[in-house]
Amino acid sequence: MSREFAFPGTRARYAPDRVVDLQHIALALDVDPARREVAGTATLTGVVLAPNTRVIELDAVELAIETVTANGKRVEFRHDGKRIRIELADPIEVGANLTIAVEYRGAPRRGLYFIGPDEGYPDKPMQIWTQGQDEDSRYWFPCFDTPNQKATSELSVRVPANLFALSNGSLVSDRVDGGKRIIHWKLDVPHSCYLITLAVGDFAAIETRWREVPVVYYVQRGREAEAERTLARTPQMLELFSKLFGVPYPYGRYSQVFVGDFIFGGMENTSATTLTDTVLIDERASLDYDIDSLVAHELAHQWFGDLVTCRDWGEGWLNEGFATYSEYLWREAYEGRDAADLELEDWADMYFGEDAGRYRRTIATKHYDEPIDIFDHHLYEKGGRVLHMLRHYLGDEAFYRALGYYLGKHKHGVVESRDLARAVEESTGKNLDWFFSQWVIDGAGHPELDVSIAYSTDTRLATVTVEQKQKVEGKTPLFRIPTKIRFHTRNGDLDIPLEIVDQRHVFHLRLDDEPTQAIFDPGRVVLAAVKVDKPEPVWIAELAGATLGIDRGAAAHALAKRGGPTAERALASALDRDPYWAVRGAAAAALATLRSTSARDRLLAALTSERHPRARRAIVRALGDFVHDPAVADALGAIVEKGDASYFVEAEACLALGRVRAPRAGELLRLAATRESFTDVIRQHAFRGLAEARDDSALGVLVEGAKWGRITQGRRAATSALAMLVRGRRDREARDIRERVEQLLSDRDFRVQAAALEALGVIGDGAAIPSLRKMIDRELDGRLRRRGKEVIRDLEEGSSQAEDVRRLRDEVGELRSLASGLRERLELIEATEKAKREKKAEKKAKKKAKREKD
Ligand SMILES: [Zn+2]
Repeated sequence: MSREFAFPGTRARYAPDRVVDLQHIALALDVDPARREVAGTATLTGVVLAPNTRVIELDAVELAIETVTANGKRVEFRHDGKRIRIELADPIEVGANLTIAVEYRGAPRRGLYFIGPDEGYPDKPMQIWTQGQDEDSRYWFPCFDTPNQKATSELSVRVPANLFALSNGSLVSDRVDGGKRIIHWKLDVPHSCYLITLAVGDFAAIETRWREVPVVYYVQRGREAEAERTLARTPQMLELFSKLFGVPYPYGRYSQVFVGDFIFGGMENTSATTLTDTVLIDERASLDYDIDSLVAHELAHQWFGDLVTCRDWGEGWLNEGFATYSEYLWREAYEGRDAADLELEDWADMYFGEDAGRYRRTIATKHYDEPIDIFDHHLYEKGGRVLHMLRHYLGDEAFYRALGYYLGKHKHGVVESRDLARAVEESTGKNLDWFFSQWVIDGAGHPELDVSIAYSTDTRLATVTVEQKQKVEGKTPLFRIPTKIRFHTRNGDLDIPLEIVDQRHVFHLRLDDEPTQAIFDPGRVVLAAVKVDKPEPVWIAELAGATLGIDRGAAAHALAKRGGPTAERALASALDRDPYWAVRGAAAAALATLRSTSARDRLLAALTSERHPRARRAIVRALGDFVHDPAVADALGAIVEKGDASYFVEAEACLALGRVRAPRAGELLRLAATRESFTDVIRQHAFRGLAEARDDSALGVLVEGAKWGRITQGRRAATSALAMLVRGRRDREARDIRERVEQLLSDRDFRVQAAALEALGVIGDGAAIPSLRKMIDRELDGRLRRRGKEVIRDLEEGSSQAEDVRRLRDEVGELRSLASGLRERLELIEATEKAKREKKAEKKAKKKAKREKD
């Protein structure tokens, strides 16, 4: 049973009233990196909507307001540190123009960030960047800070003459005056104010083009090659999305800028996306890694989010679900459906994990404390899966037609879920109220299906029984599930549609041939937890020959659960022969769950022969299941010692080496932790490996690894490794570690703070609650506050159940290895005994024969 999403006392949130229909925002600013200050004027122009308007309220947090004018005249105002209440001299009538200009200055703690060198990172570049989503623009300029006010915008900024400044839209002017550089940008398409951006730094610009549109990548000078490698496919993505979405890219320019210490992966600021510079790919990483998903995600937001915007954050899935699904669309077009389907599985894992471990909620909701609370795996990944189901239900032609219609109808406007439902209906005729109700608006959770499939050669009937096993309670409904079943016979794949409406359905389907494959929901389109029962030979045929990689992978998983020599042989064959690396990887994972010596040997052999780095990574991960196995420890140790062409194979080997508790793990992982790598991935895994190896002597290395001045990802990994090593312990050393982790709650790196939060949950000591409370009171980042509350709740309930489960899983894993070892020994003993008996019998028989001869 999942927990409630909303904390007790959470009230419904609605978009605010719109007294004014905002038309234009003009910012004229001076930013001073030395003083970390901003000063200037925000001018907001609009048309009055409310009758007899006497008061205008603007959001402006912690800004010093100097003067306010309305239509050119000075007016009275009050500022309580959060909102400015502006008293107009005379009431203004509906339809009249109103221009408010606010002169202000401030040293923002949110919204606008100044980064630069310090004692820990002396080489860090000086940069300034903004992050408005979701309600932080108010920290750097006065505004109506809500997505349902959309306006054109311009920003003119004065910066030190050696720096460049990027903002939305097109460059109007760029000049130097009195030792300062003044750069002016303008966007002539209306957007919401959370999308207004400013990025300042010593950037190099790399220019390319898509059709007539300039496409520009900005990056810290000296990293041009990395930027080009990382963003190379942007023009192809512009082309793809312009075609698929039925509306060409809506802005005159597309810029992407890499900045340091960014607090998200990327942000889709209108026509000028901001990206974290940690994803800049070096040559070695490009062997088996790209960030196309991130690039495609932010680009797709230019349509879904920027051109058409969620009306309030409770409808945020209309931004994030589409952007997430667009990652799939890009992958599908670029690498094919099998590669795209891998994302589906990742999304399902994330959503199912959140549903089981944190809470269950409707995707669209009014009940949240802060908007950032709902930017979770329901919003992104489940949202993406919902759109995938919608596409399969409608078919491609209707789906894309509906998208084009929806974008055309609502461009420059704001939307809620019902607008999408109406747009689908108006463009395709399909009334999908039931679909949006169960998946988005009213319903939460997902179907849990038990499916059994059998075929009778006598009646030539295939019988498909489907039961919805989820508990129908709270917001979890009985689902209506249109899907299909795919039979494979001599004539190829035959798809038969099924619609499940009731709790239990039995379908009798006439087939002239006995099918070799029978795949319920081919492509795993439905977001459901599905258990399928069918004969082993059918699973084996599917593993060997299903059309889609994701279905072959599912067969590998099912066969692993069954176990036994036939399943093992089929999996071994897939490991060696499947044409798709991810299926070979799935076969490796499946073989590992069998835990037999022969499975281990097959994996070790594949480790030598496999060439694809991502399949190798899966094999290495699978080998990590063979705890205390000397042969595996040797093989993994060799990779860690010598390194691998792929960062990720090498990193995975570090973790696996710890998991198998290799005798040399401590020594080799300390060595690996000295290596530099893309996103610090090797060090991260080395730290985690040390924790998995239960290497208590590593505490010192990890404390060192978590220090300010080390690379952020490694610091985070060190923090969580520390927690794993001392969890459940209450001795003096453990207390010391816990206190160090508590100190990281106020680290200057947001991500390290987040890691410290999780770590305290893992350590499970309620003594951390006071410092968690302090963090919640002090902290401005809503993500930390929300998660902090959850961790406190877990700690208060005694021990974290998730941790217990993890510990039990560890123990079960060890027991399983032990059992499998014992079984093998037993089999050996039995076989030896049998051989002895047979020999004895043979001797006896020989003797008897001899006697008879005699
Ligand atoms: Zn997004």
